[in-house]
This record gives sequence, C-alpha cells and structure tokens, in this order.
Amino acid sequence: MTLFSLPDFQQLQQTIERCTSADVEQALISRNPTIHDLAALISPAAELFLPEMARRSALLTAQRFGKTIQLYAPIYLSNYCTNRCAYCGFSADNRIARRCLTLDEAETEAEILHKRGFQHILLVSGEAENAVDVEYLEAIALRLRGRFAAVSIEVQPLSTAHYTRLFKAGITAVAVYQETYDQKMYKQVHLSGKKTDYHYRLETPARVAAAGMREVGIGALLGLTDWRAEGLALGLHLAWLRKNFWSTAVTVSFPRLRPAAGEFEPRVIVSEQNLSQLIFALRLFDPDAGLLLSTREEARYRDGMLGLGPTRYSAGSCTAPGGYSHPEQTDGEQFSVGDQRTMEEVSLAIAAKGCDPVCKDWDSAFQT
Ligand code: SF4
Repeated sequence: MTLFSLPDFQQLQQTIERCTSADVEQALISRNPTIHDLAALISPAAELFLPEMARRSALLTAQRFGKTIQLYAPIYLSNYCTNRCAYCGFSADNRIARRCLTLDEAETEAEILHKRGFQHILLVSGEAENAVDVEYLEAIALRLRGRFAAVSIEVQPLSTAHYTRLFKAGITAVAVYQETYDQKMYKQVHLSGKKTDYHYRLETPARVAAAGMREVGIGALLGLTDWRAEGLALGLHLAWLRKNFWSTAVTVSFPRLRPAAGEFEPRVIVSEQNLSQLIFALRLFDPDAGLLLSTREEARYRDGMLGLGPTRYSAGSCTAPGGYSHPEQTDGEQFSVGDQRTMEEVSLAIAAKGCDPVCKDWDSAFQT
C-alpha cells in the first residue's frame, strides 16, 4: 500500500504566506481547485474575500447536499486512556472518575439515543486496549446492528484486519484525527503512550479505507499550532485519500480546543472567523466532503454556519461514559460542550434557517 506523506510543516506555512490577492481571485473561479488554490483560500490574503467565499461555499453545499444537515450523537464507552495527551481531559495523568461501560450499559445509552430519534451514532473511547478492544467493539456493534442506520467509531487506531472485522459486525465509519500534522508540535503534546507514533496515526485513515469502510473521518485539533498550515495538511490528506480510495467517503472535522481537565491552554487562538474561513476553503476545495461541526462550538456560531458549508452536526451530546443514563454526573467528561441544546432544539434551529435536519441518510441494508 502506498503511504501518505506530507511536506515539512514549515514548507506548508511558507506556501500559504506567499499567496496574494490575485491567487485568491484565481482560486475563487477555479473549476478544479488545486492544492495551491486551497493554500490561497486559507491564506491571510483571503480574509478580504470571506463574504464571497461564504457565498460560493453555500452554493456548492446546496448543490451537493441540498439543504440537509445530518444529525448524530456520540456515545462515550470508556474514558480509560493509556496515552498522555496534554490537551485532553482523558489523559492518563488526569485524576478523573474513570469507567468503561458494560455491554448492557452501552446498549442502554444507545437505546436512549434511539428513542430520541438518532439514527447515526458515534462510539467514542479513550485509547486503552485493556478496556476497549476489538472483541468489545464487535460485541457492541452486533448488539446494535439493525437498530441504527449507521454506527461509527472513534477509538484507538487499529489494524486493517481489525477494521475489516468491525465492518463485518456493522461498523460503517471510523473517525481518526491526526490532532496536529506538525510533527514538532505532535511530539510536544503527545507525552507518552502508543499515540506518540505520529506516522502510525497518519497512516490509519488509509488502513480504514483499505478495510472497505464506507467512510473515514479526518481532522485536526485547532488551537495547537498554525491553523492555516493544519488546513493545508488536511486538504493534502483529503485529496490523497480521494485519489487512492475513491470508493470511501471522507469527512473532515474541525475540533477547536475546549476547556478540559488538566487545564491545558490553547497554544494559538483560532477565532470563529478563522474557523469559518477554513470551512469555506475546504468546501471550495472539495465540494463532496462531509464537513462536521460538533457541539464543541457554541449554539450561536453553529446556527450562524447553517447552510454555509457544514453538513453534519452533533446534538444533545454528552462526553462522559454513561452520561445519557446519568446526566447529573459530569465528572469524567472529555471536554465541556459549547452547545448544550437537545436534539429537538437543534432540529428547530436548523429548520428555522430553512435547512432540513436529517437523522438518517443511509441504511445498513445498503451495505453488502
Ligand atoms: S486525546 Fe485520545 S488518546 Fe489522547 S488522552 Fe484523550 S482520549 Fe487519550
């Protein structure tokens, strides 16, 4: 299998810095945007063009996705983690209440979300194989099979053989974020554990696609380093996955750092304007990519972005294991959410903007 590799992070920064207004104007009219067009669209020179970028992003999104916003919710299975990531509430260093749901407890959480109307769920865990391994994930997938339109996972990176096994059990998508594409920063914030292996993580989306998964989600944690260069790296990764695994859909997430146990302060500020520019730029670069905006963001911002580029919203999320059954327990959360509205409230806000909240855009019966 060919491997994805990136130019040096500083080189990406220099490419972006060199972009001029003329490059941005060219990128805006390009029918087949190149990676250089993406660099222009995320450059400081493009900030003057944000209203036009938003207009074009909205147009492309409507052409490719209609007015639909797909809703999903995470289920946190376990907050045990053997890694020490400086920015995360689940880091092995942090003294938080740890727990791993039993299969029955996980099923109860799923049932609560099912009753609320969710058809797409994302199973999330810290990275600790002794708590959440392939057998455990497979058992949950088999229990939930047929009850949801799509069950995705966001857990530790696995082998292709393990992804194949989970796909057969009913998992259809895997999210695995690089966190940062800047190798130097990656080393600084990943202090110990298997996650310190930058390249193994970078190659994970390809293993997911090679296993035949329907969809793979990539992303970078915004707030660690230069967001513009992270955006360009994301674009390169996205384009590489498209070229090498054309039958696997790719989604992109833009998680901005949120307050979490451990009191990590973002290294760089990424404003809402910055985040919007990145989302518009990626939409113009790849009109077919699913773009996610999670409950990390405030309700006001999420409502403002409706129809402009993102196609998938989480709603009514809880980031602690067992949090739907026991909403009073907030100790053990990965991070505090910014949009605390229920699924009904988010759906109403989506409809008020003239968009359609959709709980299901896929049926597992389509899966062969
Ligand atoms: S980011 Fe993931 S791997 Fe790192 S501490 Fe948090 S849960 Fe563990």
